[in-house]
Amino acid sequence: MKKLVIDVERCKSCGICIEHCPAGLLVLSREINSKGYRPVRMKDEEKCNSCLLCALVCPDLVITVYR
Ligand code: SF4
Ligand code: SF4
Repeated sequence: MKKLVIDVERCKSCGICIEHCPAGLLVLSREINSKGYRPVRMKDEEKCNSCLLCALVCPDLVITVYR
């Protein structure tokens, strides 16, 4: 079953994954993690095609895509 998991405590809000998602599904959360960053969140998981781009471009390996 496809699933996208975001390790919110490791996200530093750099926005690289947001820029690279071809479907525009990633946004910064309003919540703040323990390091003071607004982690990325998924807007609409139904529309995700599990292309892996977001996981591949994240420098901190925050995103894991299961497909
Ligand atoms: S796996 Fe692809 S479509 Fe899904 S959120 Fe990541 S970049 Fe976007
Ligand atoms: S690329 Fe990684 S660290 Fe940067 S905003 Fe996306 S999930 Fe967070």
